[in-house]
Amino acid sequence: MKKAASPHQYSFFQNVEDYFDKAAAHTKYPKGLLDQIKACNSVYQMRFPIKIEDRVEVIEAYRVQHSQHKVPCKGGIRYSDMVNQDEVMALAALMTYKCSIVDVPFGGAKGGIKINPKNYTPDQLERITRRYTAELIRKNFIGPGIDVPAPDYGTGEREMSWILDTYVAFNPGQVEAYGCVTGKPVSAGGVRGRKEATGRGVFFGIRELCSIAEDMKPLGLTTGIAGKRVAVQGLGNVGYHSALFFWEAGATLVGLSEIDCALYNSKGLDLSDVMKWKEEHKTLLTYPKAKVFKNAAALLEFDCDILVPAALENVITGDNAPNVKAKIIAEGANGPVTPDAEEILLKKGAVIIPDMYLNAGGVTVSYFEWLKNLSHVRFGRMDKRFTENTNIKMVESIENMTGKSMSAGERRAITHGADEVDLVNSGLEETMISSFHDIRNALLAHKKVKDHRTAAFIVSINKVASSYMNLGIWP
Ligand code: NAD
Repeated sequence: MKKAASPHQYSFFQNVEDYFDKAAAHTKYPKGLLDQIKACNSVYQMRFPIKIEDRVEVIEAYRVQHSQHKVPCKGGIRYSDMVNQDEVMALAALMTYKCSIVDVPFGGAKGGIKINPKNYTPDQLERITRRYTAELIRKNFIGPGIDVPAPDYGTGEREMSWILDTYVAFNPGQVEAYGCVTGKPVSAGGVRGRKEATGRGVFFGIRELCSIAEDMKPLGLTTGIAGKRVAVQGLGNVGYHSALFFWEAGATLVGLSEIDCALYNSKGLDLSDVMKWKEEHKTLLTYPKAKVFKNAAALLEFDCDILVPAALENVITGDNAPNVKAKIIAEGANGPVTPDAEEILLKKGAVIIPDMYLNAGGVTVSYFEWLKNLSHVRFGRMDKRFTENTNIKMVESIENMTGKSMSAGERRAITHGADEVDLVNSGLEETMISSFHDIRNALLAHKKVKDHRTAAFIVSINKVASSYMNLGIWP
């Protein structure tokens, strides 16, 4: 593993390449093909001026398209003062592998603007986002059939609306224009369930793992989520929603952390109370119902069964991995575990469920949003009422035959036709469960492979390689 001259001690892109190479050794593809799969096809580094009060700031930003073996390319846009080319390349590469694992027919991409959004007003952020979008349009780096951004660290629905509005203004009359970006508010062409999708996917993936007795036994754990001790790093989009779904399923949230501190309570934290405190006090440092650690990274070493790093990359390293006590490391964030840390954790017998599968719920539901934008119709609009009417007739026939009537609650549960959010969540659940088993089956099939990440990479390499081979370039 090589070190990088970046704010991080580790080269994130090199880490991804190392993981890729480890898996590629278990495949038989020609070197040229593997090199093409690994390469970042297009790297667009830009600088543009923005007027901030009475001065001009030169903004550094990126968009990387890792692969066009399927188009459009797809990947989030990150706003963070730690953004650098190495990081964006790594995240774009992970998107290629992620999309293939969950059968989303896109190539991988990622974008980043090197700013701390907390240092700018909403007006200034809007100007930066719109100018960034204009730069993407100028170089043909955005479009429903070219490259479709989405939210990532430091961005959300608001930024996606600005991107959409800028794109539409530059492309009048383009009927599929709303498919140029996903993660939009529902009122601006978004899909219900997208905001929670990544966290929900993290939960579905870990729930599936925990449902398999033979996988739980070596970890000394029982099956099921209820009662499992969970610690979550980062209470943003991915962290908060992951914590929420574990909490709702009866897990004990023993640890939660934000950028300035970590909270621990062996009896469990009340997530809504913690979030209310965070909202009202803008910090958790003063939260009274937990032991507070001023060193936020302490959370990674808490005594728990499931650890969900959901903030940033390279947080579990060779230095702290020996102290990690969790038996399951659930990668909500991209790249939270470095290769040297992974080696240590695997030796300790931990299971790491990798980012490229586990946080793919976001891109899966983004795919549904894109489909909705291209079809111009809300999911469920055509068949919800038909299903409901058919079910009502069926229930009435059963009631007539048996002479018994159902309660209003029972009747509603049985007759209910699927809304958009029901279909989105069901598509996500199916995707996360079936992809988990693809990875698990690869793990079982390759006797020399001992970890889920390598198995996930093998699944992904097989799929991307076959796409390239279908193009007829490789024999
Ligand atoms: P976000 O900006 O919504 O939230 C990140 C949170 O982490 C913030 O609240 C921030 O204060 C906190 N944080 C930062 N450093 C921390 C630290 N050292 N300790 C504890 N908390 C810290 O970002 P997000 O969208 O939730 O993304 C988080 C991670 O998940 C990133 O790695 C991102 O690439 C990945 N991811 C996001 C999505 C998505 O749909 N948003 C999808 C897939 C993967």
